[in-house]
Amino acid sequence: MLLHGVGVGRGLAVASTLRMPEPLAEPTDEPSTAEPEAELARIEVSLAAVAADLLARGAAAGGEAQDVLNAQSLMAEDPTIVEDIQTRLGSGKTADRAVFEAFAGFRDLLVQMGGYMAERAADLDDVSQRIIAHLRGVPAPGVPESATPFILVAHDLAPADTALLDLAKVVGLITREGGPTSHTAILARSKSIPAIVGVKGAENLADGTLVVLDAGAGTVLTEPADSDVERATERIAQRAAEAAAPLRPGALADGTLVPLLANLGSAEGAAEALALGAEGVGLFRTEFLFLDSTEAPSVESQVTQYEAMLRAFVGKKVVVRVLDAGADKPLSFLNDAKEENPALGLRGIRALRAAEDILRDQLLALATAEARVNGHRDDLEPGEKVELWVMAPMVADADDAEYFVSFARELGIQVAGVMAEVPSSALVADQIFDVADFVSIGTNDLTQYTLAADRLLGSVANLQDPWHPAVLRLVGMLGEAGRVAGKPVGVCGEAAADPLLAVVLVGLGVTTLSMTPAAIADVRAELARHTLAEARELARVAVAATSASRARAAVTGLSAANAIG
Ligand code: PEP
Ligand code: MG
Repeated sequence: MLLHGVGVGRGLAVASTLRMPEPLAEPTDEPSTAEPEAELARIEVSLAAVAADLLARGAAAGGEAQDVLNAQSLMAEDPTIVEDIQTRLGSGKTADRAVFEAFAGFRDLLVQMGGYMAERAADLDDVSQRIIAHLRGVPAPGVPESATPFILVAHDLAPADTALLDLAKVVGLITREGGPTSHTAILARSKSIPAIVGVKGAENLADGTLVVLDAGAGTVLTEPADSDVERATERIAQRAAEAAAPLRPGALADGTLVPLLANLGSAEGAAEALALGAEGVGLFRTEFLFLDSTEAPSVESQVTQYEAMLRAFVGKKVVVRVLDAGADKPLSFLNDAKEENPALGLRGIRALRAAEDILRDQLLALATAEARVNGHRDDLEPGEKVELWVMAPMVADADDAEYFVSFARELGIQVAGVMAEVPSSALVADQIFDVADFVSIGTNDLTQYTLAADRLLGSVANLQDPWHPAVLRLVGMLGEAGRVAGKPVGVCGEAAADPLLAVVLVGLGVTTLSMTPAAIADVRAELARHTLAEARELARVAVAATSASRARAAVTGLSAANAIG
């Protein structure tokens, strides 16, 4: 039997499955016989214990997982929820039931808010389960124990489970729920665990079923033949050899260089990115530093953060994006208006144009950080300097581009460019290149706006596919305009992390690729299998297809025929 889902990464795994235990049963709604005050005291002990446990798990996991678990820990002791629990106890609910109802109420609120907030609803469910388990004195449902490696099958995974997975034991993940932006997917990608999410029929996989999980193909094969197992095992060995090979610059088979850069949210990820072969930073998402800030950050606090990132990449390039606030990433000090359609609202460069002081401070902080790292000396060799490029998000046209580039130059930024995420920017790409030093294509938003499909909404996930020929044609227009202008065109959306799509992007004229560092090895290996002429041929086939899935299938077929090695 072949099950299908959304693959995360390109990994493979061959092992027997083990299911995650079912969630705890919903507490019954019988009137409580206990004293509300005593119950509240008991609950407070559980809240504190769960919050501390989540913090400890976060500290043990580090990185992106730590941020998620710290946020969950805060949820456990959120004063509004505690107040809600207290009210419910007062109206005669049992401790279990009061916790369950209070968290369920907040969960529903998040779901109604939609987008990024709705995706966090599962995190709240997990916190609620952990508190109820603590109150009952039973273990919270968690990853099963096994003496041998296994593929974990779950309805969905809570961040607390994913963060501390024992990678020697859990060799793959299959979930029934979840989309490409769910936490399971994000964390699996950052830990390089082969995973497939949103698998219909996953609920029917019995414990101990031998499966071949192929994340690249998005498939789970049950009852595989010996030859299937052999082929998958060979590919696993080949991938391990590729990952262990000495780091080398990204290049096509004919030697055409395609620098492979990292997408980072803070300097914390720098060492790991470098270890994975990042040749610089292609997207520093500065808004991630300030998601919890209620006030605009001071210039000095920004300088400290930027300097740390720039120092980590001396001898390389760092492309910093100025604050991209709004829609799924609101910053309270920049986006305070209530909007019906925030994805179409005052976000990115639009919000910054409306709050020019904040943009001025950020550009000043960047110029200062660069001066501190490079000094004011002209005698430095390129290998001793960091190359700072700065770009604006959500640029719609040449007017936006001109505004940003001239403002950045005025404040001492030497290389200023823009992100192409709004389809209009591709339609007037020639005008944009007249003013911008470079363009970096954000395929996540470009796809969302080209196909009018909310990037966080599961119901339209089938349209959120950067393989769509409409998206690829826009990339081609930007690539061609960049070639004519003799200026670089990067891609820093998730599309760059899909190895075969990365080849197509290069065929469309893209000159650098920036991605989550864990994807670099796979992309490097795939680029090395194709010449520039082949990449262009694959690009022609992709843009001629009539849907995303046909483009992907046609390119997959042709590349298998073409590929070297
Ligand atoms: C994009 O839109 O592709 C992009 C890289 O920006 P973000 O994902 O941060 O919106
Ligand atoms: Mg974007």
